Amino acid sequence: MTLLDARQLVSKKIDELRVRVNKLSTKPSLVIIRVGEDYASGKYVSNKIRKCEEVGIESKIIHLQEDVEQESVEKIILDLNKDENVTGVLLQLPIPKHLDEDYLTNLIKDEKDVDGFTIGNMGKLSLGLEGNVACTPRGIINLLKEFSVDIEGKDVLIINRSNIVGKPLAQLFLKEDATVTIAHSKTKKLKEKILMSDIVISAVGRANFLNAEDFSPNTTIVDVSINFNEEGKMCGDVAKSDYEILINEKQCNLTPVPNGVGQMTVLELIEQTIEIAEKKESR
Ligand code: NAP
Repeated sequence: MTLLDARQLVSKKIDELRVRVNKLSTKPSLVIIRVGEDYASGKYVSNKIRKCEEVGIESKIIHLQEDVEQESVEKIILDLNKDENVTGVLLQLPIPKHLDEDYLTNLIKDEKDVDGFTIGNMGKLSLGLEGNVACTPRGIINLLKEFSVDIEGKDVLIINRSNIVGKPLAQLFLKEDATVTIAHSKTKKLKEKILMSDIVISAVGRANFLNAEDFSPNTTIVDVSINFNEEGKMCGDVAKSDYEILINEKQCNLTPVPNGVGQMTVLELIEQTIEIAEKKESR
Protein backbone atom coordinates (compact mmCIF):
# COMPACT_ATOMS: atom_id res chain seq x y z
CA MET A 1 0.00 0.00 0.00
CA THR A 2 1.25 3.40 -0.82
CA LEU A 3 1.12 7.17 -0.95
CA LEU A 4 -0.76 8.00 -4.15
CA ASP A 5 1.51 10.90 -5.12
CA ALA A 6 0.21 12.45 -8.35
CA ARG A 7 3.44 14.22 -9.32
CA GLN A 8 4.94 11.27 -11.18
CA LEU A 9 1.73 10.85 -13.20
CA VAL A 10 1.55 14.55 -14.00
CA SER A 11 4.97 14.81 -15.65
CA LYS A 12 4.25 11.68 -17.76
CA LYS A 13 0.83 13.00 -18.73
CA ILE A 14 2.12 16.48 -19.62
CA ASP A 15 4.39 14.89 -22.25
CA GLU A 16 1.44 12.94 -23.71
CA LEU A 17 -0.76 16.03 -23.82
CA ARG A 18 1.96 18.06 -25.56
CA VAL A 19 2.07 15.44 -28.33
CA ARG A 20 -1.73 15.59 -28.70
CA VAL A 21 -1.67 19.39 -28.93
CA ASN A 22 1.02 19.24 -31.64
CA LYS A 23 -1.19 16.97 -33.74
CA LEU A 24 -3.97 19.57 -33.86
CA SER A 25 -4.06 22.01 -36.77
CA THR A 26 -5.22 24.83 -34.46
CA LYS A 27 -3.92 25.26 -30.92
CA PRO A 28 -6.69 24.92 -28.30
CA SER A 29 -7.42 28.09 -26.38
CA LEU A 30 -8.69 28.41 -22.81
CA VAL A 31 -10.17 31.62 -21.41
CA ILE A 32 -10.42 32.01 -17.62
CA ILE A 33 -12.72 34.69 -16.21
CA ARG A 34 -11.60 35.83 -12.76
CA VAL A 35 -13.62 38.31 -10.71
CA GLY A 36 -12.11 40.20 -7.78
CA GLU A 37 -9.00 39.55 -5.73
CA ASP A 38 -9.64 36.27 -3.87
CA TYR A 39 -6.11 35.12 -2.98
CA ALA A 40 -6.65 31.36 -3.44
CA SER A 41 -8.42 31.92 -6.78
CA GLY A 42 -5.43 33.94 -7.98
CA LYS A 43 -3.12 31.04 -7.12
CA TYR A 44 -5.37 28.46 -8.84
CA VAL A 45 -5.66 30.61 -11.97
CA SER A 46 -1.91 31.14 -12.31
CA ASN A 47 -1.36 27.40 -11.82
CA LYS A 48 -3.83 26.66 -14.63
CA ILE A 49 -2.15 29.17 -16.95
CA ARG A 50 1.28 27.67 -16.20
CA LYS A 51 0.05 24.18 -17.09
CA CYS A 52 -1.50 25.49 -20.34
CA GLU A 53 1.90 26.92 -21.28
CA GLU A 54 3.62 23.61 -20.47
CA VAL A 55 1.45 21.67 -22.93
CA GLY A 56 1.29 24.42 -25.57
CA ILE A 57 -2.33 25.56 -25.14
CA GLU A 58 -3.18 29.24 -25.65
CA SER A 59 -4.60 30.78 -22.49
CA LYS A 60 -5.99 34.11 -21.45
CA ILE A 61 -7.24 35.58 -18.17
CA ILE A 62 -10.06 38.11 -18.20
CA HIS A 63 -9.64 39.71 -14.77
CA LEU A 64 -12.67 41.76 -13.73
CA GLN A 65 -13.10 44.22 -10.87
CA GLU A 66 -14.73 42.98 -7.65
CA ASP A 67 -17.76 45.28 -8.24
CA VAL A 68 -18.33 44.34 -11.89
CA GLU A 69 -22.02 44.26 -12.87
CA GLN A 70 -23.77 40.99 -13.66
CA GLU A 71 -24.68 42.23 -17.18
CA SER A 72 -21.01 42.84 -18.01
CA VAL A 73 -19.99 39.29 -17.02
CA GLU A 74 -22.99 37.96 -18.93
CA LYS A 75 -21.94 39.77 -22.10
CA ILE A 76 -18.35 38.52 -21.82
CA ILE A 77 -19.52 34.91 -21.52
CA LEU A 78 -21.97 35.21 -24.43
CA ASP A 79 -19.24 36.74 -26.63
CA LEU A 80 -16.82 33.94 -25.72
CA ASN A 81 -19.53 31.36 -26.54
CA LYS A 82 -19.70 32.79 -30.07
CA ASP A 83 -15.95 33.20 -30.58
CA GLU A 84 -14.76 30.42 -32.92
CA ASN A 85 -11.18 30.85 -31.67
CA VAL A 86 -12.08 29.97 -28.08
CA THR A 87 -12.09 26.26 -27.18
CA GLY A 88 -12.94 26.42 -23.49
CA VAL A 89 -14.34 28.95 -21.03
CA LEU A 90 -14.03 28.82 -17.26
CA LEU A 91 -15.52 31.09 -14.63
CA GLN A 92 -13.18 30.84 -11.63
CA LEU A 93 -15.22 30.31 -8.46
CA PRO A 94 -15.97 31.71 -5.97
CA ILE A 95 -17.24 34.97 -7.43
CA PRO A 96 -18.46 37.98 -5.36
CA LYS A 97 -21.85 37.52 -3.70
CA HIS A 98 -23.71 40.16 -5.78
CA LEU A 99 -23.21 37.97 -8.87
CA ASP A 100 -25.46 34.97 -9.57
CA GLU A 101 -22.96 32.09 -9.62
CA ASP A 102 -25.41 29.42 -10.82
CA TYR A 103 -26.82 31.60 -13.58
CA LEU A 104 -23.43 32.74 -14.89
CA THR A 105 -21.88 29.26 -14.72
CA ASN A 106 -24.78 27.87 -16.68
CA LEU A 107 -24.51 30.58 -19.33
CA ILE A 108 -21.33 28.98 -20.66
CA LYS A 109 -22.10 26.89 -23.75
CA ASP A 110 -22.03 23.17 -22.84
CA GLU A 111 -19.33 22.36 -25.42
CA LYS A 112 -17.04 25.08 -24.04
CA ASP A 113 -17.75 24.33 -20.36
CA VAL A 114 -14.32 22.88 -19.48
CA ASP A 115 -15.30 22.64 -15.81
CA GLY A 116 -18.30 20.40 -16.57
CA PHE A 117 -20.54 22.51 -14.29
CA THR A 118 -23.45 23.45 -16.59
CA ILE A 119 -26.87 21.87 -16.14
CA GLY A 120 -26.42 20.27 -19.57
CA ASN A 121 -23.13 18.61 -18.69
CA MET A 122 -24.22 17.58 -15.19
CA GLY A 123 -27.41 16.13 -16.70
CA LYS A 124 -25.47 14.16 -19.30
CA LEU A 125 -23.24 12.75 -16.57
CA SER A 126 -26.28 11.61 -14.57
CA LEU A 127 -27.78 9.98 -17.65
CA GLY A 128 -24.50 8.29 -18.59
CA LEU A 129 -24.17 10.34 -21.79
CA GLU A 130 -20.99 11.83 -23.20
CA GLY A 131 -20.26 15.39 -22.07
CA ASN A 132 -17.73 17.45 -20.17
CA VAL A 133 -17.11 16.20 -16.64
CA ALA A 134 -16.14 18.12 -13.50
CA CYS A 135 -12.34 18.05 -13.29
CA THR A 136 -11.77 17.09 -9.64
CA PRO A 137 -14.04 13.98 -9.78
CA ARG A 138 -12.51 13.05 -13.16
CA GLY A 139 -9.04 13.41 -11.63
CA ILE A 140 -9.92 11.22 -8.64
CA ILE A 141 -11.09 8.32 -10.82
CA ASN A 142 -8.06 8.62 -13.10
CA LEU A 143 -5.67 8.79 -10.15
CA LEU A 144 -7.12 5.58 -8.71
CA LYS A 145 -6.94 3.87 -12.10
CA GLU A 146 -3.34 4.97 -12.66
CA PHE A 147 -2.41 3.37 -9.32
CA SER A 148 -4.42 0.24 -10.23
CA VAL A 149 -6.84 0.60 -7.30
CA ASP A 150 -9.83 -1.71 -7.91
CA ILE A 151 -13.14 0.16 -7.99
CA GLU A 152 -15.63 -2.38 -9.35
CA GLY A 153 -17.88 -3.77 -6.62
CA LYS A 154 -16.12 -1.76 -3.88
CA ASP A 155 -17.95 0.11 -1.12
CA VAL A 156 -17.19 3.78 -1.68
CA LEU A 157 -18.02 6.50 0.86
CA ILE A 158 -17.95 10.11 -0.34
CA ILE A 159 -18.01 12.62 2.52
CA ASN A 160 -19.28 15.62 0.52
CA ARG A 161 -22.44 16.39 -1.43
CA SER A 162 -21.40 19.55 -3.31
CA ASN A 163 -22.10 20.07 -7.00
CA ILE A 164 -18.40 20.27 -7.82
CA VAL A 165 -17.17 17.23 -5.86
CA GLY A 166 -19.63 14.78 -4.27
CA LYS A 167 -22.50 14.65 -6.75
CA PRO A 168 -20.50 14.27 -9.99
CA LEU A 169 -18.05 11.93 -8.26
CA ALA A 170 -20.89 9.63 -7.15
CA GLN A 171 -21.98 9.34 -10.80
CA LEU A 172 -18.45 8.48 -11.92
CA PHE A 173 -18.08 5.79 -9.25
CA LEU A 174 -21.46 4.31 -10.24
CA LYS A 175 -20.24 4.20 -13.84
CA GLU A 176 -17.27 2.18 -12.56
CA ASP A 177 -19.67 -0.26 -10.84
CA ALA A 178 -18.86 0.75 -7.27
CA THR A 179 -21.48 0.80 -4.50
CA VAL A 180 -21.72 4.43 -3.48
CA THR A 181 -22.74 6.14 -0.23
CA ILE A 182 -22.78 9.93 0.10
CA ALA A 183 -22.30 11.44 3.57
CA HIS A 184 -22.70 15.06 4.69
CA SER A 185 -23.02 17.17 7.82
CA LYS A 186 -26.35 15.56 8.82
CA THR A 187 -25.13 11.97 8.32
CA LYS A 188 -25.48 9.72 11.38
CA LYS A 189 -22.85 7.18 12.44
CA LEU A 190 -20.24 8.54 10.04
CA LYS A 191 -17.38 6.78 11.85
CA GLU A 192 -19.08 3.40 11.39
CA LYS A 193 -19.61 4.09 7.71
CA ILE A 194 -15.94 5.03 7.25
CA LEU A 195 -14.79 1.83 8.94
CA MET A 196 -17.01 -0.27 6.64
CA SER A 197 -15.80 1.32 3.38
CA ASP A 198 -13.14 0.12 0.94
CA ILE A 199 -12.60 3.58 -0.54
CA VAL A 200 -13.22 6.82 1.42
CA ILE A 201 -13.26 10.20 -0.28
CA SER A 202 -13.04 13.09 2.16
CA ALA A 203 -13.88 16.64 1.03
CA VAL A 204 -15.12 18.23 4.24
CA GLY A 205 -12.65 21.09 4.27
CA ARG A 206 -11.48 20.76 7.87
CA ALA A 207 -7.88 20.10 8.93
CA ASN A 208 -7.47 17.00 11.14
CA PHE A 209 -11.10 15.96 10.55
CA LEU A 210 -9.90 12.35 10.18
CA ASN A 211 -7.05 10.39 11.74
CA ALA A 212 -5.57 6.89 11.61
CA GLU A 213 -8.09 5.46 14.12
CA ASP A 214 -10.98 6.25 11.78
CA PHE A 215 -9.94 3.78 9.07
CA SER A 216 -9.90 0.02 8.72
CA PRO A 217 -6.70 -1.59 7.40
CA ASN A 218 -6.32 -1.60 3.58
CA THR A 219 -8.67 1.33 3.00
CA THR A 220 -7.98 3.60 0.05
CA ILE A 221 -8.27 7.20 1.28
CA VAL A 222 -8.68 10.10 -1.13
CA ASP A 223 -8.22 13.45 0.57
CA VAL A 224 -9.68 16.17 -1.65
CA SER A 225 -9.63 19.08 0.78
CA ILE A 226 -7.37 22.07 0.60
CA ASN A 227 -7.04 23.52 4.10
CA PHE A 228 -4.39 25.62 5.76
CA ASN A 229 -3.18 24.75 9.26
CA GLU A 230 -2.17 27.16 12.04
CA GLU A 231 1.29 27.57 10.48
CA GLY A 232 -0.31 28.47 7.15
CA LYS A 233 0.77 25.16 5.58
CA MET A 234 -1.52 23.42 3.10
CA CYS A 235 -3.14 20.25 4.42
CA GLY A 236 -6.15 18.03 3.78
CA ASP A 237 -8.77 16.51 6.10
CA VAL A 238 -6.53 13.62 7.20
CA ALA A 239 -4.04 14.41 9.99
CA LYS A 240 -0.58 14.56 8.44
CA SER A 241 0.96 13.17 11.64
CA ASP A 242 -0.91 9.90 10.94
CA TYR A 243 0.23 9.39 7.32
CA GLU A 244 2.96 6.97 8.38
CA ILE A 245 0.65 4.80 10.53
CA LEU A 246 -1.95 4.71 7.76
CA ILE A 247 0.52 3.64 5.08
CA ASN A 248 3.02 1.48 6.93
CA GLU A 249 0.93 -0.04 9.75
CA LYS A 250 -2.60 -0.03 8.38
CA GLN A 251 -1.47 -0.69 4.80
CA CYS A 252 -3.78 1.98 3.41
CA ASN A 253 -3.49 3.86 0.12
CA LEU A 254 -3.58 7.61 0.68
CA THR A 255 -3.56 10.68 -1.56
CA PRO A 256 -1.35 13.35 0.05
CA VAL A 257 -2.16 17.05 0.34
CA PRO A 258 -0.44 18.75 -1.41
CA ASN A 259 0.55 16.65 -4.48
CA GLY A 260 -2.57 14.51 -4.66
CA VAL A 261 -5.99 15.35 -6.07
CA GLY A 262 -5.17 19.04 -6.66
CA GLN A 263 -2.47 18.12 -9.19
CA MET A 264 -4.93 15.90 -11.04
CA THR A 265 -7.65 18.57 -11.18
CA VAL A 266 -5.52 20.97 -13.23
CA LEU A 267 -4.36 18.18 -15.49
CA GLU A 268 -7.94 17.10 -16.21
CA LEU A 269 -8.87 20.68 -17.05
CA ILE A 270 -6.11 20.81 -19.64
CA GLU A 271 -6.97 17.38 -21.03
CA GLN A 272 -10.66 18.24 -21.28
CA THR A 273 -9.77 21.42 -23.23
CA ILE A 274 -7.68 19.31 -25.64
CA GLU A 275 -10.51 16.76 -25.98
CA ILE A 276 -12.94 19.54 -26.96
CA ALA A 277 -10.50 20.74 -29.63
CA GLU A 278 -9.95 17.19 -30.90
CA LYS A 279 -13.70 16.59 -31.18
CA LYS A 280 -14.15 19.87 -33.05
CA GLU A 281 -11.44 18.97 -35.57
CA SER A 282 -12.79 15.47 -36.13
CA ARG A 283 -16.27 16.82 -37.02
P1 NAP B 1 -18.43 22.40 0.49
O1 NAP B 1 -19.45 22.73 -0.53
O2 NAP B 1 -18.32 23.26 1.70
O3 NAP B 1 -18.64 20.88 0.93
C1 NAP B 1 -18.22 20.37 2.15
C2 NAP B 1 -19.01 19.11 2.41
O4 NAP B 1 -18.59 18.57 3.64
C3 NAP B 1 -20.52 19.35 2.48
O5 NAP B 1 -21.21 18.36 1.76
C4 NAP B 1 -20.79 19.25 3.98
O6 NAP B 1 -22.09 18.78 4.30
C5 NAP B 1 -19.76 18.22 4.39
N1 NAP B 1 -19.49 18.28 5.82
C6 NAP B 1 -19.22 19.37 6.56
N2 NAP B 1 -19.05 19.01 7.87
C7 NAP B 1 -19.26 17.68 7.92
C8 NAP B 1 -19.25 16.74 8.98
N3 NAP B 1 -19.01 17.08 10.26
N4 NAP B 1 -19.49 15.44 8.67
C9 NAP B 1 -19.72 15.05 7.40
N5 NAP B 1 -19.75 15.91 6.36
C10 NAP B 1 -19.51 17.21 6.62
O7 NAP B 1 -16.99 22.42 -0.17
P2 NAP B 1 -16.50 21.96 -1.64
O8 NAP B 1 -16.50 23.14 -2.52
O9 NAP B 1 -17.18 20.72 -2.06
O10 NAP B 1 -14.98 21.62 -1.29
C11 NAP B 1 -14.64 20.71 -0.26
C12 NAP B 1 -13.15 20.72 -0.02
O11 NAP B 1 -12.51 20.26 -1.20
C13 NAP B 1 -12.55 22.12 0.23
O12 NAP B 1 -11.47 22.00 1.15
C14 NAP B 1 -12.02 22.54 -1.11
O13 NAP B 1 -10.95 23.44 -1.03
C15 NAP B 1 -11.56 21.21 -1.66
N6 NAP B 1 -11.52 21.13 -3.12
C16 NAP B 1 -10.36 20.70 -3.66
C17 NAP B 1 -10.24 20.55 -5.01
C18 NAP B 1 -8.97 20.04 -5.59
O14 NAP B 1 -8.72 20.19 -6.76
N7 NAP B 1 -8.15 19.39 -4.77
C19 NAP B 1 -11.33 20.86 -5.84
C20 NAP B 1 -12.53 21.28 -5.25
C21 NAP B 1 -12.61 21.39 -3.88
P3 NAP B 1 -23.42 19.67 4.00
O15 NAP B 1 -23.68 19.50 2.53
O16 NAP B 1 -24.45 19.07 4.84
O17 NAP B 1 -23.08 21.08 4.35
